[in-house]
Amino acid sequence: MHLDEAYDDNNIFAKILRGDLPCFTVYEDEQTLAFMDIMPQSPGHVLVIPKNPSTNMLTIAEEDVVAVMRTTHKIAPSIRKAMGAEGFMVVQLNGSEAGQTVPHLHMHIVPRQGGIDIGFHARDVADMDELAAIGEKIAAQISADLSA
Ligand code: AMP
Repeated sequence: MHLDEAYDDNNIFAKILRGDLPCFTVYEDEQTLAFMDIMPQSPGHVLVIPKNPSTNMLTIAEEDVVAVMRTTHKIAPSIRKAMGAEGFMVVQLNGSEAGQTVPHLHMHIVPRQGGIDIGFHARDVADMDELAAIGEKIAAQISADLSA
């Protein structure tokens, strides 16, 4: 996909936002949705997306990218805590040349443990029961931390 391509209403994340496809939600507010990556590069890999249609960093409105970063900043500590992660990556790809596969802007939050490499990008689909269990654990930690 080219960086200046028009927004595709039928991309996977647009379908998730419309409720046409399921996801394991860990956090939601008026402007953003955070859910489990279905092909995680490490256990606890979460995606944060704006609810407004936005393809990439060049075309997203400032208020939407701010909302995405606010949510990322808000939930990353809870993801880290829930997964017992020593570190984590925050990654965002623009254009297929950079590896972007879904044309709706998203921030990846990828927990990291020392000495353990991350898995391939968007390759192996997770076990759905395991993904649901990790999603519940992360959602519970986020909700506990935000109400503390
Ligand atoms: P990117 O390549 O940066 O566009 O990342 C897209 C991410 O979306 C990849 O990490 C995929 O594993 C993930 N993904 C693709 N389809 C789904 C889906 N239906 N639910 C959750 N994550 C998905």
